[in-house]
Amino acid sequence: MQPKNHISAPLHFDTQTIRSAHWQSQANEHSQALFLTSSYTFQSAQDAADIFAERKPAYSYSRFANPTVNMFEQRLNQLEGGARTIAAATGMGAILSLTLALLEQGDHVICARNSFGSTLVLFTQILTKFGIHTTLVDLNDHQQWQNACQPNTKLFFLESPANPMLNIADLSALAQLAHQHNAKLIVDNCFATPYHQQPIQHGADIVVHSATKYIDGQGRILGGAIVCAYPDDGDKIYRTLRTIGTSMGAFEAWILFKSLETLPLRMARHSQTALQIATWLEQQPQIASVHYPGLPSHPQHHLAQKYLKNGYGGIITFNVKGDKTNAWTLIDNSDWISISGNLGDAKTILTHPDTTTHWRVSKKTKPSLASAPPPSASPSD
Ligand SMILES: *Cc1c(COP(=O)(O)O)cnc(C)c1O
Repeated sequence: MQPKNHISAPLHFDTQTIRSAHWQSQANEHSQALFLTSSYTFQSAQDAADIFAERKPAYSYSRFANPTVNMFEQRLNQLEGGARTIAAATGMGAILSLTLALLEQGDHVICARNSFGSTLVLFTQILTKFGIHTTLVDLNDHQQWQNACQPNTKLFFLESPANPMLNIADLSALAQLAHQHNAKLIVDNCFATPYHQQPIQHGADIVVHSATKYIDGQGRILGGAIVCAYPDDGDKIYRTLRTIGTSMGAFEAWILFKSLETLPLRMARHSQTALQIATWLEQQPQIASVHYPGLPSHPQHHLAQKYLKNGYGGIITFNVKGDKTNAWTLIDNSDWISISGNLGDAKTILTHPDTTTHWRVSKKTKPSLASAPPPSASPSD
């Protein structure tokens, strides 16, 4: 099966979310099919041999490739403006696959300290077992990035907006610095999605996603993706991922492919509502500070205006006056808001990162929380 009705005219982003990667089987289905199959058949023994040896392009086994997964990859690739996208089982599976593909023993990574908890654990505790070392730096302190560069530095890794304090990176400046040192810039674009930000346009070499979040948008499934600006990186990562088995399943791909059709509508509404709530929160006497990239009070509001289009995303971080008890009281007294750690759902959620999503991050690596909560708010791990 091949992509059909290949549309040549450049389409508006919103139209691409619906019309790109328009694959059709002989049944002429209108909604793209779900190919729920782990394997494929061959015409003959010779045919099987040719396909396994990659002399003939065809599907052989779904850990390697699956039509539904390919559709999702193609659509996301178009939305991010990439050269090649590879889907992964989860966001962490995407990050692990790209690091195993691109790094070797003895290599060095610089990662923003302001990152998702599991990402920090991967870089500072797991990859070190294999001789890959990471220096953590403050996302917005370029001198720290510069000082951390070594001859063996291969990757700069960051999120923007960053989890959980929503710092905004100066993407083009950091891309330039990475390239001066022959390193690649990897951007986790999970919070912005391609609707708000396309990091490859600003010099990123690779974009990673936890598709579990806004790409799904309804809190149903796990997924991830790696969008490469250069086909060579894409090829290396694909070959590693299909062997280590961090591949996305067809059902997940089908859900995510259909979810992308509503991404612009969902993100526009998330961002519009978040700005209203952030503005309101800033005026509440019980709130010490609000961190939202769309507020003029945000320390990188100017960068948010430069890099984020059509709004500033659906996540708001705020400090409650007092200590952890006050924060927990607010959470426990919320009415219909879910106490949950999975962002990007249509349902509003509330979480205390310091004791949930970021509890494993040691005090040493934890980003300093502005208007800092007292020590009692730190986990004891
Ligand atoms: C959730 C998340 C991840 C990890 O994604 P999973 O799909 O849970 O593996 C990575 N980066 C960010 C910014 C996230 O929020």
